[in-house]
Amino acid sequence: MITAENKKEYYEALLAKKTEYEGVFFVGVKTTGVFCRPTCPARKPKLENCEFFETAQQALLASFRPCKRCRPLSYPNHVSNLIQKLVEAVEEKPEKRWKDKDFEELAVDASTARRQFKKRFGMTFVQYARARRMGLAIKQIREGEAVIEAQLSTGYESSSGFRDAFSRIMGAAPTKLGRSHILKAAWLDTPLGPMLAIGDEKALYLLEFVDRRGLEREIERLRRKTKSAIIPGHTKPIHSIERELNLYFKGQLREFKTTLCLLGSPFQKHVWAELVKIPPGETRSYSEIAKAIGRPTAFRAVAQANGANQFAILIPCHRVINTNGELGGYGGGLTRKEWLINHERKTV
Ligand SMILES: [Zn+2]
Repeated sequence: MITAENKKEYYEALLAKKTEYEGVFFVGVKTTGVFCRPTCPARKPKLENCEFFETAQQALLASFRPCKRCRPLSYPNHVSNLIQKLVEAVEEKPEKRWKDKDFEELAVDASTARRQFKKRFGMTFVQYARARRMGLAIKQIREGEAVIEAQLSTGYESSSGFRDAFSRIMGAAPTKLGRSHILKAAWLDTPLGPMLAIGDEKALYLLEFVDRRGLEREIERLRRKTKSAIIPGHTKPIHSIERELNLYFKGQLREFKTTLCLLGSPFQKHVWAELVKIPPGETRSYSEIAKAIGRPTAFRAVAQANGANQFAILIPCHRVINTNGELGGYGGGLTRKEWLINHERKTV
């Protein structure tokens, strides 16, 4: 988590090009849309145009692209030709969905690419490309601009990385869908990292960490099931959850009251209803939940329903752990799961 104090410290490190901050933070420059490492030789931006990130992935998800001068993805100071080639290929077509056969076309071995990327950036190449693509799609949502409709409808056919990425993930331009249902999506900053909230005027449909594994597919499923287009904006339930989350993170809220629209099978809904009954500060095992819903042998299906939850924090799937006391899995990452459990213990 980057605090106001961190920001001051990082900005000073940035001006002084302090090498000891390499890998500690990355800086996104709002005026140019690129992100850099602390020692970038380029002219330094003003503080108000800087946004700091702890990982390259976060910078990508916030729609910044890697700087060509300091190559923030090549830490420490060296980049193999293979990585360079792949990063450039993504920048040429940032909306593309990468598959193993695409590597063959670039004359790159998929497993070598995976290994080298993982070693350098702590993420695979496919994760890198995905983060970049999601970043593009989420850009307007993050900036809260209302111009999306115009952008999507004018020159829609002409290829643009942004338009393609946005429409692939959020759906076709509303103008092309006629009178179909519209969902709005907002970017919410939280102490645990940015979240995406999607809702209409009646209910919230999704709340997830932006870097959650599988978010893209989750959004697609939501779009298909509700036959909706998703555009940037706020609705009453989104404002409501924003307020509630603020209180929750301050330790001042135990129960969320924002109306949720649950899309799932009867079994999944049954499991989710049981999760909501786990008091904050407590945990349950998958098999305890299975027993509680009267299906004691169905703990695997329970775990699956847990994973299919579309409301991080609100439907507290983070309160379900393994029988042996280990944390188990979490779509938003185990660090967050542990943080949430500890936070709720303190709050109680
Ligand atoms: Zn740079």
